[in-house]
Amino acid sequence: MVKENLKEVISRVEAACKRSGRKPEDVTLIAVSKTKPIEMIEEAYSAGTREFGENKPQEMKEKYEVLPKDINWHMIGTLQRNKVKYVVPRASLIHSVDSLKLAEEIDKEAKKINKVMPVLIEVNVAKEDTKAGIYTEELMSLIEDVSRLENVQIKGLMTIAPYVENQEENREIFRTLKQLSVDIAEKNIDNVIMQILSMGMTNDYEVAIEEGATMVRVGTGIFGERNYGNLS
Ligand SMILES: *Cc1c(COP(=O)(O)O)cnc(C)c1O
Repeated sequence: MVKENLKEVISRVEAACKRSGRKPEDVTLIAVSKTKPIEMIEEAYSAGTREFGENKPQEMKEKYEVLPKDINWHMIGTLQRNKVKYVVPRASLIHSVDSLKLAEEIDKEAKKINKVMPVLIEVNVAKEDTKAGIYTEELMSLIEDVSRLENVQIKGLMTIAPYVENQEENREIFRTLKQLSVDIAEKNIDNVIMQILSMGMTNDYEVAIEEGATMVRVGTGIFGERNYGNLS
């Protein structure tokens, strides 16, 4: 099932690229494997996927230990400071930095292992109070503060758009994130590159790509519905 779903998602990604005059190789598909068993990840892996997204540090750690080392792990979930130490050595990108305190903890752990940790700043574009992410008004000053940390590198922005029935309703959100990244890039801040825009999930990744996403995070569309009840 995973293989067929992947095929379908990849062909939709390609179609969205075509519609918007973009190259498919400029969009990275992250298979969001949170709550899903090793066997399903292996199925996606054998179909060629190397980018996987997890939202729980402990779960990422457990999967990391048993799966091939050429996988790139993406931490996409809200990160508590006391869990940063599990993530920094294993993740290739942390998508969910939304405070200076969190960035400082990442910097501290990265220093210990001589790593410069690539991160995205998570923006709460829609100002949903149930969601993580910094508001757009505070984004610039957070970026300036984080840019001074030596073992953290800002590589772009991430957002989680609201759940909507019709993905068109999120187009404006994606457009706003894209515009923010253009504005920030123009400021030429040391240690900040605006190369990655992580936006779009199962329900809205096609519109996100049309609006400039370079990473889309698709879980349900690849692995099927999640059953949180089965989690230990
Ligand atoms: C779970 C999750 C996803 C994937 O959601 P689907 O709707 O299953 O594609 C993407 N991004 C984040 C941050 C998530 O937590």
